[in-house]
Parts: sequence; C-alpha cells; structure tokens
Amino acid sequence: SLSLRDVHLAFGHHRVLRGVDLDVAQGATACVIGPSGSGKSTLLRTVNRLLEPDRGDVLLDGRSVLGDDPDALRQRIGMVFQQFNLFPHMSVLRNITLALRRIRKLGEDEAAALAREHLDRVGLAAKADARPAHLSGGQQQRVAIARALAMQPQVMLFDEATSALDPELVKGVLALMADLSSQGMTMVVVTHEMGFAREVADTVAFMDAGVVLEAGEPAAIFESAQHPRLRRFLSQVL
Ligand code: ATP
Ligand code: MG
Repeated sequence: SLSLRDVHLAFGHHRVLRGVDLDVAQGATACVIGPSGSGKSTLLRTVNRLLEPDRGDVLLDGRSVLGDDPDALRQRIGMVFQQFNLFPHMSVLRNITLALRRIRKLGEDEAAALAREHLDRVGLAAKADARPAHLSGGQQQRVAIARALAMQPQVMLFDEATSALDPELVKGVLALMADLSSQGMTMVVVTHEMGFAREVADTVAFMDAGVVLEAGEPAAIFESAQHPRLRRFLSQVL
C-alpha cells in the first residue's frame, strides 16, 4: 500500500502542497483529479522522490521511503509522463533495456528477453527495432509504459499519460492502463479522463490548492460530491 501523510512542499514562498493525505491499498487504483495548478504533478513527483517534501511522510507498505536511495525507490515506483521521454536515438528495445542493465544490472540477453516480454504485453513486440520517431504517439506511450513495467515496480504513477495524444490514440493507452489496473497493479493516475476515473478507479481524490479536498469511491465523487468546489469543478469538466 501507498500512503501520503500530511505532505507539505513549497517552491520558495509558494506553498504548493499544503497537507496532502492519500491512501492507496495494494492492488488498488487511485485517480487524482483537480484544476490546473492544484499540485497534482508535484504530488506524484514527491511520491517517487523527484521532489522532497518539507514536512510529512510517504509510506510504502507502512514504511517511510524518504530515507531510501532515490534510484532504488524508482525501481519500486515507476512513472509515466505526458511527454513520453523516450530516447530518440535508441531503438525501442534499447530504450527498455537501458535501465534494466544500468540500474538492475541485468546482462544483455536477460534484459532483452525481459524487454521483449513487456513489449509483447503492450502489443508492440513487432516494434522492438524501430526508432521512437517511427511510432505513433500512442505506441510511444505504450513503449514508455512497457519500460516502466519492465522494472517490475510495485506501484505505477501516471501523470496525464494521454494528454499529449491525438484523440484517436487515447483509447488504446487508457485500455492498457485499465488492463494493468485489473491485473492488480497499484496505481496513482493523474487524469482529465473522467470516464476512466469513474470506470477504473477504486478511489478518486479531488485536489484543490494543495490539499485533497475530497476522496471516495467514484460513485460518491461523481454522483454525490459534498464539497462545493468539487461540484463546480465537475460541472466544468463533465
Ligand atoms: P496541471 O493540471 O496544469 O498539470 P498540476 O495540478 O499538475 O497542474 P503542478 O504542476 O503540481 O500542478 O503545479 C502546482 C503549482 O506549483 C503551480 O502553481 C506551478 O506553477 C508550481 N510549480 C510546479 N513546479 C514548480 C517548480 N519546479 N518551481 C516553482 N514552481 C513550481
Ligand atoms: Mg500536472
């Protein structure tokens, strides 16, 4: 399980996270929704220690991750970004084997076998030798997901993974994320896709001005939101 406890983070005088609490059970999917600038990306970056909180704690299976080596932690917590961040000069296969070799210290054959297994899992076994630029945006994002999965993480974080995609490519990536969720991956998904949140999430957390203002099952959030700010947000996005 993943828990955030009273997490605070400021950039200078700008207090971006102001006491975030969130619990994601093992195997559960939490979707984080909320207005632009509310701190959603900052929250995800704090979980895998791209940023350090000023106060509060991030717990994995009840144990604080804040003392861990960040590289070791990023093996346990994978992250997928809006911009896929693939290396353009490397083949798809090498994009995936790089971290397996450098961080997990696998040999070349073992890394390649694991990479091919995960490419197959995202439906792109045939693209192993292609350059990222020769793939569609949706295929590139599925490669980025395969790259994260190949590290065999315990938790996956998604930061608007479909926001940069052409509309016709969004569905395939969301379907892959829904598959992962149903296979029991523990996931935190920042998304503007309210349909996905409603269908796939176990918990939906609404962030506003640096706090989780309201969290609950999708039905409770989408059909009987308590907080006026959440009701106003939903009336704008639904
Ligand atoms: P969006 O939906 O637009 O992606 P968000 O909820 O992900 O928004 P964040 O990216 O977490 O929002 O940013 C929250 C606030 O923190 C914003 O006001 C942003 O300008 C500020 N911020 C984010 N990163 C930094 C940084 N590295 N330095 C200074 N301010 C930052
Ligand atoms: Mg963001």
